[in-house]
Amino acid sequence: MLSAYITHPSSLLHEMGPGHPDCPERVSAIQDCLLSRGLLDFMVPFTAPAASRAQVERVHTTLYIAELVAGAPASGYRRIDPDTLMNAHTLDAAWHAAGASVLATELVARREVSSAFCNVRPAGHHATRSAGMGFCFFNNAAVGIAHALAEFDIQRIALVDFDVHHGNGSEDIFAGDERVLMVSTFESGLYPFNGEEASGPNMCNVPLRRYSRGEALRDAVTNHWLPALDAFRPEMVFVSAGFDAHRDDDMSSLGWVESDYTWVTREIVAVAERHANGRIISLLEGGYVLPVLARCAAAHVRVLIGAD
Ligand SMILES: [Zn+2]
Repeated sequence: MLSAYITHPSSLLHEMGPGHPDCPERVSAIQDCLLSRGLLDFMVPFTAPAASRAQVERVHTTLYIAELVAGAPASGYRRIDPDTLMNAHTLDAAWHAAGASVLATELVARREVSSAFCNVRPAGHHATRSAGMGFCFFNNAAVGIAHALAEFDIQRIALVDFDVHHGNGSEDIFAGDERVLMVSTFESGLYPFNGEEASGPNMCNVPLRRYSRGEALRDAVTNHWLPALDAFRPEMVFVSAGFDAHRDDDMSSLGWVESDYTWVTREIVAVAERHANGRIISLLEGGYVLPVLARCAAAHVRVLIGAD
């Protein structure tokens, strides 16, 4: 069965000013790499729909959404935190990034595809129930998970987050929700400066030390993630796929390399095959050095679609 590749032109129009690390070219760099390596030949392309307000309200407060809509600038920028800005296209991009997750959920739940990769911006995992932050506005993974739980006969969903920053927004939304297990790794002491203490029994947070390299990832996955995931037996697996732990990404100091992304994706695919009929939805989060991001995302997708 083929995999879905989902994106939207608005991902290229949301930008936060000259020199901002989260630039539109991230999405085109990934797409170019998937194309040049022949990986898109094995994927069915889809244009993301906009998520509906009701779909986003499952995980964000009505007030937060209303404020975001009311505050969207017609031109120029509106700053929502020191590093996170809206331009005239941000809101449209955010609705479509969340919509990509909804479409991916439907395609995978209906078994029209085996898995899906959403190459969209803005990212989502720092967006809490009531606030956008850290380059994130709507929590795309959370919107998809909530959609799967509401619309399909699915009781248990795993969210795997290997971005170098803690997915505080996803933790905020799902802490204490026994239908969701979140397993994550992140660099200790890095933005958003939390996650060391998990906020619920369904949160498996593994902080990693600076310079601990791929060995620490393998240890975290083998000794913490896999026992939790195998006990939980997820029926669907979402991935918050950030590639900013790479040694050449100047946001972080974990020192991962491409083969670490291949390895962790193989482990995630194996979990999905053991418990979830292989159903995986992967969403782009971080990763800021364009050629490195593109190569790591391609390594991830290559495993996701069964080519590696
Ligand atoms: Zn990140």
